[in-house]
Amino acid sequence: MAVVEAIQAERAGDRRRLRVASPATLEPVGEIDVATPDDVHAAVERARKAQTAWAELPFRERGRFLERAIDVLLSREEELVDTIIAETGKPRAEALAEIVTSCDALQFYARRAEGMLADRSVPLHLLKTKKLRIVYQPLGVVGIITPWNFPFILSLNPSAQALMAGNAVLLKPSEVTPFSGRLVAEVFEAAGLPEGVFQCLSGDGETGAALVGADVDKISFTGSVATGRKIAVACAERLVPCTLELGGKDPMVVCADADLERASAGAVFGAFSNGGQVCTSTERVYVVDEVADAFVRKVVEKTGELRQGPGGESDVGAVIDPAQLDIIESHVADARRKGARVLCGGRRNPEWEGHYYEPTVLADVTHDMDVMREETFGPVLPIMAVRDEDEALALANDTSYGLNANVWTRDKRKGLGLARRLASGSAVVNDCMVTYGVTESPFGGRRDSGIGQVNGETGLRGYCHAQSIVVDRFGSKSEFLWFPYTARKSKTMRRLMRLLWGTPLGRLLS
Ligand code: NAD
Repeated sequence: MAVVEAIQAERAGDRRRLRVASPATLEPVGEIDVATPDDVHAAVERARKAQTAWAELPFRERGRFLERAIDVLLSREEELVDTIIAETGKPRAEALAEIVTSCDALQFYARRAEGMLADRSVPLHLLKTKKLRIVYQPLGVVGIITPWNFPFILSLNPSAQALMAGNAVLLKPSEVTPFSGRLVAEVFEAAGLPEGVFQCLSGDGETGAALVGADVDKISFTGSVATGRKIAVACAERLVPCTLELGGKDPMVVCADADLERASAGAVFGAFSNGGQVCTSTERVYVVDEVADAFVRKVVEKTGELRQGPGGESDVGAVIDPAQLDIIESHVADARRKGARVLCGGRRNPEWEGHYYEPTVLADVTHDMDVMREETFGPVLPIMAVRDEDEALALANDTSYGLNANVWTRDKRKGLGLARRLASGSAVVNDCMVTYGVTESPFGGRRDSGIGQVNGETGLRGYCHAQSIVVDRFGSKSEFLWFPYTARKSKTMRRLMRLLWGTPLGRLLS
């Protein structure tokens, strides 16, 4: 049984209908009608009409709507958490964490967007007769397309940023978890957001593609590399900017001087939290030979203590999209075939009817295995012993991805030095996956892991156009560079050039 299955449209009209079931219990969660291209175009029109008045509101007023949304989150917390659990099969603590980080994101941007997007005066180094001002203008209508692994926070967080920057937002949540996306819309509606400023379009890839092809001014996409590529091509056709937050194959480097107790607990959390379905999950470990046995022993011991199952009170939840189960199984089978040892797990959990894969630790892995090269996006932790830190870094960087990475050592200076040598969008020393928790930090991948960054000042400005406005200061009748071009002007330019860049003093002044 698939978690999302197409069913016969029961209503008149041409909308397809999808039925969503819980991956934990296989019980039905609900049904959605797939928004058609016509629905998308009508929503874009409504958004465009609403955006002008929204952008004219002072930051403080826009912020007030976001702060009211926090009140709604707090008052409806249980219902939100239950919906997230129903359609993802996550443990309660992980569903709750989505609400906690949502409150933080709303408050952070509601209060700080004004400062981050305030006009800036930039002194010009040469043309002292002009003044330069940088003004952050909203782009207009932003399409936000999101995945199923964190269906609430990954829909709310970019939306909060785009809204604070003065844009109208059209959200297209994953068809695997459509109800969390709808709840984001309900929360903003209950917070009193003017009609049309935020709309949620339920549907699958067809709706997403229609949104990308509609009259939007930016696409902010979070999801797989394959879909990201399609979106990049479609946006290139229309010259619409996009940010792409894609997959990862994050490495963990364990040095000989690491605190093995903390590092092994960090490895287990990094690999198995959210069932390994985090873009910044620890997907492969390189541990220096002399501590490898002790480290692996501790990891296996801690993995054995994890509880898995439905009901929200476990540690490791379900595989949210059953299509992912096939990938997980094929990676483990490929590793086994090529000589890996399965130290624990290595199979679907036979205790439960739902889509559960046991937390799995693999040893004796090599870089010709899929599990070391392709994103597994499930509860699988392959561990490879290496000669030294240099070999660990070389293998960590031998990947087509570049999202996040973590390094473990008691020497923080060394950790920072190793982190700088990692070809990843971000890195963590002696912890893992903290990039989404730290609102200040710009976040985004390199290579196949994406283009552009979200979060913090950089992310917020990504929802704007930085317009430069140059103002003449003195209003003289003419400018040196204006017509007519004369021999005398050319001579003066040559002299000026030699003076400014042909002498040490000139270079100092210019
Ligand atoms: P996906 O690419 O299958 O789907 C993501 C979204 O794109 C869904 O809403 C889907 O309906 C939509 N979509 C599908 N085809 C489309 C098309 N042609 N045009 C427009 N939209 C389309 O990804 P997924 O399986 O939902 O999510 C898992 C992936 O997301 C993993 O690879 C994971 O690493 C990645 N991810 C990345 C980040 C990050 O910040 N870098 C965060 C979370 C998840």
